[in-house]
Amino acid sequence: MLFKSNAFKEWTKRNFSDKIKKQNMAIQQSDKQLNTVPQPPIVVVMGHIDHGKTTLLDTIRKTNVAARESGGITQHIGAYEILVESKNPEYNQRKITFIDTPGHEAFSAIRARGTKVCDIAILVIAADEGVKPQTVEALNLIQQAKIPFIVALNKIDKPEANPDRVKTQLAELGVLVEGWGGNVPVINISAKEGKNIQELEELILLVADMEGITAYKDGPVNGVIVETKFENRRGVEVTAIIKNGVLKIGDPIYTASAIGKVRTIEDCNGKPLKEATFSSPVLITGFKEMPQVGEEFFVGEKTEEEIKKADIKRDIKSNKSDQEKNENTLNLILKADTIGSLEAMKKILSNLALPEGATLKIISEDIGDVFVSDIALAETAPAIILGFRVKIPKDLQIIIQSKNIRIYTFDIIYEMEKFLKQEAENLFKPQEPPIKGRVEILALFSKKRSEQLIGGRVMEGRIVKGAQVKVQRGEEIIGQGKILNLQSSKIDVKEAQEGKECGILIDSSTEIAVGDQLIFQ
Ligand code: GDP
Repeated sequence: MLFKSNAFKEWTKRNFSDKIKKQNMAIQQSDKQLNTVPQPPIVVVMGHIDHGKTTLLDTIRKTNVAARESGGITQHIGAYEILVESKNPEYNQRKITFIDTPGHEAFSAIRARGTKVCDIAILVIAADEGVKPQTVEALNLIQQAKIPFIVALNKIDKPEANPDRVKTQLAELGVLVEGWGGNVPVINISAKEGKNIQELEELILLVADMEGITAYKDGPVNGVIVETKFENRRGVEVTAIIKNGVLKIGDPIYTASAIGKVRTIEDCNGKPLKEATFSSPVLITGFKEMPQVGEEFFVGEKTEEEIKKADIKRDIKSNKSDQEKNENTLNLILKADTIGSLEAMKKILSNLALPEGATLKIISEDIGDVFVSDIALAETAPAIILGFRVKIPKDLQIIIQSKNIRIYTFDIIYEMEKFLKQEAENLFKPQEPPIKGRVEILALFSKKRSEQLIGGRVMEGRIVKGAQVKVQRGEEIIGQGKILNLQSSKIDVKEAQEGKECGILIDSSTEIAVGDQLIFQ
């Protein structure tokens, strides 16, 4: 009972919209008449890259009856459900739902929306490598989300595996596992060899029982969107996890940004269903527009206010449905703090004087801070993100830089207008990749047709053998070439770092002069 009231407090704290608050209140009021039942836990697997998250999810899935029965031809919908096979009657034939999307990204997106979708996290740490930067990052996310977690020490089959060392590292981070003065459950596994996998499943159920994870079967339906996709034939397809109630075909359904009517429901093995209930990951079609990953969905009709919001989205064509590629079309993703700001942004864009033949296309617009899903869309479209009075979460900035995403944010509408007016031409120019290295030419030694032996100093970054480089004279790019060989102190090397002088054999039809620069991108 204690858990239930806490869960409700947390639930109602979320304040996406009045409608949702009302809905939550309705659930709360009807609490007395409704029965809570134990809910299959929803589990997310997190940890450092290469520590075995995918292997673990695959192993769990493959050893499961449902997957076996479907002949192994299972579709990937971003989440799946298993039936635990255990000799212990307390656990046998109980369900667990696993979120099967790249751990951190989906988790961050869902968390950023303020939705709690996962009940339990598994922190996978390779027992041979131990705690790594993304282990700490995952741990932080789990602790911020305040969800219980299990430490799975993976790759225990490897001779170098050293679980005690990992437990010491965890203790240094303040995580005390069972048997080491704490109560965080820990288990040694081999995802590759299937060792202790059933025990891990039982441990998940034990934690679920201790936490008292429950749901409502009768009453209002809600859940969370964990993956979205556009299928040409079927339209918007979403993977959702139902948190409460029973979802049926024909139900009107909505999120903060999309509305629809449930047309089809499929389970994670592709089996069509007429209805589905809590914790089940399901593939739903029938949304009229693309909801955002991490949004909560509800069954019911939308209020006027929310339909108005949805109307703004409706005229946006899904970029995925549009195969046309036009070099003079610039795709834009708009993010703003309010609907009013969004409208203002669109007005400025519609009045912008563009280069001849050029068009701007808004492929997505949304209220709220920049999300992982925006970055993914910006990368695949490709598109520029324009933000007004929105924040870019710190953890996304690294992704933005590494993926070279063009993103511009403003706090004052006039500044945005000024920037866009000035930059309208430049926006259409493809962005140059970042410079990896720059060499200044200090000496010329010999030249044999296009092959030139020159000497230079790495002024920035590095230069590598085999690299394609541009030749820059003053401000101008005058040619290009390929580095055939590199020498440092007369010894052949694969690369030379910043500050180093090197001999370079370059193949270039441009005659290189002292003072030129070689640009490696
Ligand atoms: P992820 O990046 O965390 O999803 O890691 P993967 O599941 O892709 O695993 C990375 C590598 O570790 C792969 O080559 C796996 O075969 C290997 N691996 C995963 N689990 C185990 C394990 O239990 N034992 C051993 N020896 N290798 C494993």
